[in-house]
Amino acid sequence: MDPDEFRRHAHELADWMADYLRDVGTRRVVPDVSPGSIRRSLPGSPPETAEPFELIAADFRERIMPGMTHWNHPGWFGYFPANHSPPSILAEMLVATVGAQCMSWQTSPAATELEQVVMDWLRQMLGLPGSFTGVIQDTASTATLVALLSARDTALAGTGDRSAADLSRLTVYTSTEAHSSVAKGARLAGYGAERIRGIEVDDAYAMQPGRLEAAIARDLAGGLVPACIVATVGTTSSTAVDPLRAVGEIARRHRAWLHVDAAYAGAAAILPERRSCFDGVELADSLVFNPHKWLLTNFPCSAYFVRDVPALLRTFSTAPAYLRTAHDPEVVNYRDWGIQLGRQFRALKLWFVIRSYGLDGLRAMLRRHIALAASFRSWVEAEPGFVVAAPSPFGLVCFRHEPPSLGADGAARDRWNQRLLERVNAPGDVYLTHTVLGGRYTLRLAIGQWQTEESHVRRAWELIRGAARDA
Ligand SMILES: *Cc1c(COP(=O)(O)O)cnc(C)c1O
Repeated sequence: MDPDEFRRHAHELADWMADYLRDVGTRRVVPDVSPGSIRRSLPGSPPETAEPFELIAADFRERIMPGMTHWNHPGWFGYFPANHSPPSILAEMLVATVGAQCMSWQTSPAATELEQVVMDWLRQMLGLPGSFTGVIQDTASTATLVALLSARDTALAGTGDRSAADLSRLTVYTSTEAHSSVAKGARLAGYGAERIRGIEVDDAYAMQPGRLEAAIARDLAGGLVPACIVATVGTTSSTAVDPLRAVGEIARRHRAWLHVDAAYAGAAAILPERRSCFDGVELADSLVFNPHKWLLTNFPCSAYFVRDVPALLRTFSTAPAYLRTAHDPEVVNYRDWGIQLGRQFRALKLWFVIRSYGLDGLRAMLRRHIALAASFRSWVEAEPGFVVAAPSPFGLVCFRHEPPSLGADGAARDRWNQRLLERVNAPGDVYLTHTVLGGRYTLRLAIGQWQTEESHVRRAWELIRGAARDA
């Protein structure tokens, strides 16, 4: 493709992109395709000769797009959002165009230094103390694995008056509502599966510090060593908030590493009125939050903040001869701050987003989503037969339909709500997903897409009430 052809196709695709962003709300949120149908429509072997770009672009529009799920549809209420935004998309285009691999300062000084600047902006935005340093990881799962590995090596080395421990004695604590990435990361980091403790939660699905303390006491009595506690602000099922200050004080007392998983809710720390959910965060050793969930930045972009950078480097730095550069003593080489060597230039999209919206604009969006969630919650509460299933401190509402006609039969109620969800999603205007809370099938409505307006939330509620009438 010569430069003139590239220019022509890029302009055409830019038009397509602008139309897509404008009209995405007119599409079905989730495609109506059966498994295997797209694969069967595509050639099973690669072309021997070059194909015209017009044909490739047409196949993208006609064969691929009909099989895409539109996470940025204003009727997207599933899982958590994975939002993007026009400035973030433009940054991604530039990153792809320059195509730099930013593993070291030397391999693109501006990428490293911009990452240092925007991660410190983010730290200030979240209200984290200056003792935290940020680095971009790909996902929260990776960041949590990084934290578990740092905690492991810190415990293995021994700290302060605690002597070195061997791996077979290290324990990890997290709540029974923690994300699956915590147990997965702990297994990958070599902690024995039988030494990963699920701490019981209270009625609001938050970790009970008293239960944590008791579990640690039992383990200490058994000769084990508490290495890491993972607390969550905004659990995936219900956005429950573990009490960070109480958990942090326990972590300090037992010299365990405290990692905070705020993958979704971390964005809300930029709101002064939501800071109370993060009270005690200064006791953490590390925290992860995903700008790619609720802060308008394209996936993947996960912000990892850590206090003990030397501990991070001890676990992750490698210096084979072929990677050493003359500047190593005076620069940051992010290849030493995580698992993979190669790094994409992800700071650029954050920089574009933060500058394009400003803190005011970002706060306004979060407040709008939180207010819409509060409205939806009030409609559910006011509707006979519906119950709200958990507190809603952010943009998520968990609820169930429990008509008296179903009686107290839990399994029948679960089936009923499952059918209700299928009916709500069937027309393709909105998309909700479910979870299980307290053993019961529960519907989730997560508001977090930048084009979502009250009309979309009203449409979801209309579909839910309609389905409840005829389920
Ligand atoms: C979404 C989520 C994760 C996983 O995030 P990835 O970036 O997809 O790995 C982890 N923890 C919580 C609480 C989440 O909501």
